[in-house]
Amino acid sequence: MHPNDPSLRSFVEVAADSDFPIQNLPYGVISTQDDRRLRVAVAIGDHVLDLGMMEDAGLLPRVSAKPVFRTGSINALMANGAYGIGTVRRKISELLRHDSPTLRDNEALAKRALIPMKNVKLHRPVDVPGYTDFYSSREHATNVGTMFRGKDNALQENWLHIPIGYNGRASTVVVSGTPVIRPQGQLKAAGESMPTFGPSKRLDIELEMGAIVGRATEMGHIMDVDEAQYSIFGFALFNDWSARDIQQWEYVPLGPFQGKAFASTLGAWIVTKEALEPFAVHGPKQDPEPLPYLRQDKPHNYDIRLEVELKPANATRGTIISVSNFKYMYWSSAQQLAHHSSSGCSMSVGDLIGSGTISGPDKGSYGSMLELSWGGKEPIELVEGGTRTFLEDGDTVTLRGYAQGDGYRIGFGEASGQILPAKVK
Ligand code: MN
Repeated sequence: MHPNDPSLRSFVEVAADSDFPIQNLPYGVISTQDDRRLRVAVAIGDHVLDLGMMEDAGLLPRVSAKPVFRTGSINALMANGAYGIGTVRRKISELLRHDSPTLRDNEALAKRALIPMKNVKLHRPVDVPGYTDFYSSREHATNVGTMFRGKDNALQENWLHIPIGYNGRASTVVVSGTPVIRPQGQLKAAGESMPTFGPSKRLDIELEMGAIVGRATEMGHIMDVDEAQYSIFGFALFNDWSARDIQQWEYVPLGPFQGKAFASTLGAWIVTKEALEPFAVHGPKQDPEPLPYLRQDKPHNYDIRLEVELKPANATRGTIISVSNFKYMYWSSAQQLAHHSSSGCSMSVGDLIGSGTISGPDKGSYGSMLELSWGGKEPIELVEGGTRTFLEDGDTVTLRGYAQGDGYRIGFGEASGQILPAKVK
C-alpha cells in the first residue's frame, strides 16, 4: 500500500489530532539520556522510531555503502537520493503498520527502538551549509511596503517579476527549543541625528516555512521549476527572528544583515515532500506572467494551516496571535529555488530556503508582529491581560502547523524559542 494511503494504521497508538500519524513519518535527529550518540528517527504518535537501531538490526534497505542514520543529521540520507517515498520511507511505513509483525512482535527490539517522545532530546536535523531567505508573500510585502513607503509605492517595481531574496546566516540556524538572546546593534530612531548601540527594542518574529534542498548541483547548472521541485527534500517550520530597528537603519542599500543574523529557529521535524503531496495546491494567479524560467503549471504550493503562539514568562496560557496558511505564498519554494540557480549558483545538500514571512489576507493572519501591531501603533491583546507590540524578554514564541487530511493530519511539531535578555557589557 502507498505510504500516503489514508486507511493505513500503525500498531503504535496515534491520537486523531496527532501531528505524526503513519502517513507522515517526518525525519528528526535524537539522542537519549542513556545513549548520547546522535541518530536519525521518525516521529510516530507520541513516540519516535530510532532508525539507527533499525539500521543496525538490518531492517532498513541500505541506501549507500556506509550507514546513514548515525551521522548526526539527515544529510547523508538526502545525499543518497533516498527521497521520502523511496525505499526507506516505504519500508518504515511497512514496519509500523498494524498488520506487520516484524517490529510489532519483536518485543525486545520494539521496546528499545520505539522511544517515548518525552524521553528524547531533539537536535538540529539538518547540517545547513547555506541559508537563503525570500520575501515572497504578496500580502506581507504589501503591508511592509505600505508602512515604509506608503500605499501607492508598497510593492517595488521588481517584486512581481523576481522572487526577492537575500543570503542569510547558516551559522545561527538553531533547532526548536534553543533560547534566543536579544540582539544588539546600531539603532537610529526617527528624529535622532546619530545612531546609538544597544539592545533591539523592536524584536520580532517571522512566520515562515523552510524548504530543505536534498540534492547538490554544480556551479553553472540552471534548474527549471520542475527540477527545483524535485530537488526539495521536505519542509519544516521556521521562525526567522528579526530586529526591526536594527534592520531599518542598516538595510539601505544592500538589504538585511545583522537585524536577521542573530538566530533563526528551525522545527525539529522535516516533513517529506512526498507526505505533503496530497496537500499540494496552486498558488495565487501570477499576473504579470513570470518569465519562462519561472513558469510553473503544476501545483507547487501547500495547504498547511499555521499558527503563532506568544506566551509571556509569567503567563499560564499563551495567546494565538496569528493563524495563517502556507498556500498564500505568491512565489512557490520551487520557483524560489529555480530563481536561485538561474545565475549558475550551485546548491548543496541541506541548503535551507526560507519562504519569507507568510501573511494571509486579513489582519489575524499576518506573519509578523510588525504587521500585527501595524508598526507598533496597534498593540496586540494577550488572553491573560497585557499587550505586546514587539517581544519582551522572557516571551516564548511557538509556531505550529499541519495539513488536514481525511481523518489524519500531517503535522510539523513546533518551532519554539524563548527570548533571553541582551548580553550588555
Ligand atoms: Mn525572513
